[in-house]
Amino acid sequence: MKELVAKQRGYFLSGETRTYDFRIEQLKKFKSMIKKYEKDMYRALKADLNKSRHESFTTEIGILYSEIDFMLKHLKDWMKDEEVPAPLTHKGTKSYITYEPYGVVLNISPWNYPFQLSLLPAIGAIAAGNTVVIKPSELAIHSSHLLHQMISDTFSETFVAVVEGGKETTEQLLEQKFDYIFFTGSTRVGKIIMEKASKHLTPVTLELGGKSPTIVDRDVNVGLAAKRIVWGKYTNAGQTCIAPDYVYVHEKVYMKLLKAMKKYIQHFYSKRPLKNEDYARIINKNHFERLLGLLENVKIYHGGNYSKETLTIEPTIVTDVTWDDPVMQEEIFGPILPVMSYRDLDEVIATIQQHERPLALYYFGNNKKNEEKLFHSISFGGGCVNDTLYHVAHPHLPFGGVGASGMGAYHGKFSFETFSHRKSVLRQTTFYDLPVRYPGGKLNEAVAKTLLK
Ligand code: NAD
Repeated sequence: MKELVAKQRGYFLSGETRTYDFRIEQLKKFKSMIKKYEKDMYRALKADLNKSRHESFTTEIGILYSEIDFMLKHLKDWMKDEEVPAPLTHKGTKSYITYEPYGVVLNISPWNYPFQLSLLPAIGAIAAGNTVVIKPSELAIHSSHLLHQMISDTFSETFVAVVEGGKETTEQLLEQKFDYIFFTGSTRVGKIIMEKASKHLTPVTLELGGKSPTIVDRDVNVGLAAKRIVWGKYTNAGQTCIAPDYVYVHEKVYMKLLKAMKKYIQHFYSKRPLKNEDYARIINKNHFERLLGLLENVKIYHGGNYSKETLTIEPTIVTDVTWDDPVMQEEIFGPILPVMSYRDLDEVIATIQQHERPLALYYFGNNKKNEEKLFHSISFGGGCVNDTLYHVAHPHLPFGGVGASGMGAYHGKFSFETFSHRKSVLRQTTFYDLPVRYPGGKLNEAVAKTLLK
């Protein structure tokens, strides 16, 4: 690993990765790589998570294509130096901000969207002129092997490399001096990453998780809300960082929403989801059993059946839960959705505020005042009004958490900015030399005071 990082740093210092032409060429190569391996990616996702082709394309592969196209279209503009105006105190100067690549980037990714979350940050890092080491999750093993094959087949390891392995491998990688660390995963491991990064004072982006609330107001289109919540929750069997973790629904529409959600679950996944070939499974036995544990002693409104053989759990709705129940004490990250009713929105806000800042928040309703109240009083990474998940795929919106759900953001231009250092440059005139900054003389002091005050 030491050798790999040294090789990448040597390559970065050669300056080759910095030019516009090089970046564009590599992004095009990246796109061809995805095209070439698209079928293998579907197979790997099926093997790791039983993802359907539709889900694999819409939530992983399609997002990669559109991100690359967006970068190809805008990179020239983003790379331009940004001139800034000169204030009176800096008369005669010309200043600008230039975007400089950090150098060697480490990207550590989780298993739930193994291609999207390994490759999307890498695309940003390349667009910004860096070299990249990708460490995929060992839990999505087919995807991890394929990532290694795809990348080593396409790029020299001095530029982009995949290092496979688990905790120990990551620990060894973290011993090395990287210039930027981009981590996607749990809040618990995020803390370890940040601690390790501090040894070399390496800047980090942490894309973490948490419990993302969904609030359904009384004046809502119940059917549409139910449809979009069911889609957002049970895509990838709930193993999505921004999936609705739980629902607070106004008591006036509580039963209506439950019934409508049940209808859409059956509509999307059939009456026997365990037999549905397109319904995702749980990544491994540990997570499967953890989720079954969350179902103990709770009231199941719908679903709740599971298959130990296929590691599948039905889309499940649970009711009558409190914050003391285990299902409300950790990020669920599976196809279980607690639904609670409320009468007073202020109480809901106060409860959410008492917990860690979520990665996402969703509001369903048409009450502008309530929407503003929620969005202005609760801190969260990003979210939607009358939808779930959709903000993540918007190229003009930064994607990232706040507080325990993470720090930093990416996607589109925000990826370019994340992987670039903003360097300030001031060019001073040599035609004259204003004396005001120099010591000595009452007049200088008086002028300085006037200019700066
Ligand atoms: P995880 O934190 O267990 O693992 C993430 C990565 O860290 C893996 O590559 C793993 O090998 C490595 N790792 C695990 N333990 C480590 C240790 N002790 N030291 C160093 N490295 C270690 O997360 P996961 O289970 O793969 O993913 C699920 C979590 O990720 C959820 O909390 C979810 O919300 C979050 N997530 C966040 C986003 C986001 O964009 N914000 C996206 C997907 C998942």
